[in-house]
Amino acid sequence: MGEFDLIARYFTRPARRSPLGVGDDCALLAPRPGMQLAVSTDLLVEGRHFLANVDPRTLGHKCLAVNLSDLAACGAQPLAFTLSLALPRIDEPWLAAFAQGLFALADRFDCELVGGDTTGGPLAINITIFGEVPPGQALLRSGARPGDDLWVSGTLGDARLALEASRGHVALPQEVLAAARARMDSPEPRVALGMALRGIATAAIDVSDGLLGDLAHVLERSGVGATVQADCAADLLAAGSAGFAPAPELLHELVFAGGDDYELAFTAPPSRRQEVGAAGASTATRVTRIGSIVADPGLRLLDAQGKALARRFQGFDHFRP
Ligand code: ADP
Ligand code: MG
Repeated sequence: MGEFDLIARYFTRPARRSPLGVGDDCALLAPRPGMQLAVSTDLLVEGRHFLANVDPRTLGHKCLAVNLSDLAACGAQPLAFTLSLALPRIDEPWLAAFAQGLFALADRFDCELVGGDTTGGPLAINITIFGEVPPGQALLRSGARPGDDLWVSGTLGDARLALEASRGHVALPQEVLAAARARMDSPEPRVALGMALRGIATAAIDVSDGLLGDLAHVLERSGVGATVQADCAADLLAAGSAGFAPAPELLHELVFAGGDDYELAFTAPPSRRQEVGAAGASTATRVTRIGSIVADPGLRLLDAQGKALARRFQGFDHFRP
């Protein structure tokens, strides 16, 4: 099997929304009239973002999920994506499973594969995703204002818990481990919530590198600070409700600096609390208020008495020494 048979067999499907998809020199996309195009791209490299032995179906899901999550953070509706693959060899069972995981998620979000590139090389996967959003309504990192509430969707820390368990750093009961692994392998991009928060949230980001690290980007872009209530951590860790109760140090590390969560962190004025709740309810997504935006720059984690905790948390950075 050669490059073109591979593309035809695994990555070509009848064009739907795109008038011209896989198979020509360019894909042609037609966003609805007047809509803004939202574009995001992510590169996943073996050994960095996933291990060589990862289940290919899971990998297909995850590499599209992380891109959908970026659209979600902007409140954009998915349209289409391109897929560029570097493959060490042609492994048909691997490709079939990868394509299955990828297209299962793509179909759920009505997001069409319209092109890509395929070459030999060390395994790496790049997806560029296109969405649409009404002009001026995209959620940005820069809109948080002092007095805004700070919210987070879903649960946090379970993906990191699975990672720590796989490294042998924590021992987990079988069911807790399975649930945490599912969170690590199959993140659910919060696309519907992001769209429902248009016009309500003042700023948003998707949590991929750890809550407090990602939050720092919002604070910097918005020129504000924030306080976060540390005692919300126990409720945010899904494994907590399954009976896993880590010591505060580990709990805080998982929830506030975990990574790979793909939830949304967002801000909204207190006057919009009901609407935020309604956006969560209408999209069947849990939303939790975890703190406030303040004028003073910096991020303070407060205990139940309102005292600042001394620990610092950093988001993941590929090039930090
Ligand atoms: P080019 O010569 O322009 O690089 P290619 O020969 O690499 O084009 O690709 C042929 C067609 O197959 C193009 O339409 C391209 O978008 C598509 N394509 C290549 N790789 C993939 C892939 N992994 N997934 C989807 N479409 C792909
Ligand atoms: Mg090519």
